[in-house]
Amino acid sequence: MVHNFVQISDCHIDDTAKSMGVDTHQNLAQVVKEITTVESEAVFISGDLTHHGTTKSYEKLKALLSPIRSDIFVIGGNHDSDKLNDVFAQNLFKKISLGAWDIISVDSVQKDKTSGYLTVNTLTKLNKRLSLSTAKYIIVMLHHPVVPMNSTWDDTLSLKNPQDLFAVLNKYAKIRAVLFGHVHESAEFNRQGIKIIACPSTAMQFTDEKRIGFNYYTLSDSGHLDYETQWV
Ligand SMILES: [Zn+2]
Repeated sequence: MVHNFVQISDCHIDDTAKSMGVDTHQNLAQVVKEITTVESEAVFISGDLTHHGTTKSYEKLKALLSPIRSDIFVIGGNHDSDKLNDVFAQNLFKKISLGAWDIISVDSVQKDKTSGYLTVNTLTKLNKRLSLSTAKYIIVMLHHPVVPMNSTWDDTLSLKNPQDLFAVLNKYAKIRAVLFGHVHESAEFNRQGIKIIACPSTAMQFTDEKRIGFNYYTLSDSGHLDYETQWV
């Protein structure tokens, strides 16, 4: 049995279409159109759904996502606000099961800071969630990068305490991947057998890449995780 899901990230939708020098509304609409052509059981958004966290921007986002027929699950990023909890209350997730896999979220956002941090409380909750999971394989999703990006990205804006995260993850051999956004680029790393995957932005990339895109994942019940970045 194979399960497919989509990850999009960093849509940065604002009250007006133009944000960060691009038309984020039109760009997301294009990505959404592509997503409707692929087989997928779920679409995950890994933070920075909006640029300034206004209610209007979340409502605009919801309208832009409406052509998607599969379930949509979201986590917040540093650009998001508690308005996310109002407009996307039904879409926030802690754990989603797809066949033999669980996808578990971690909240890495610090108030008024671009970088991420996992508090003791968050790490304790994550440990509990991992220990209670009956899935054979686990994917962890958060907003901030957990490894140096080796790119033009400023690593000081990433997760400040990845060693604390890996101290928890290393206790569970069934963790196969860590997925995140925030860096506006497509990248893959490997850390002791765990795939570490960055999802590009639907708005614009911070690299030389001029296209926008999303990540498309295929999970097998025998434990394989494949993905490709689909550029639009
Ligand atoms: Zn971000």
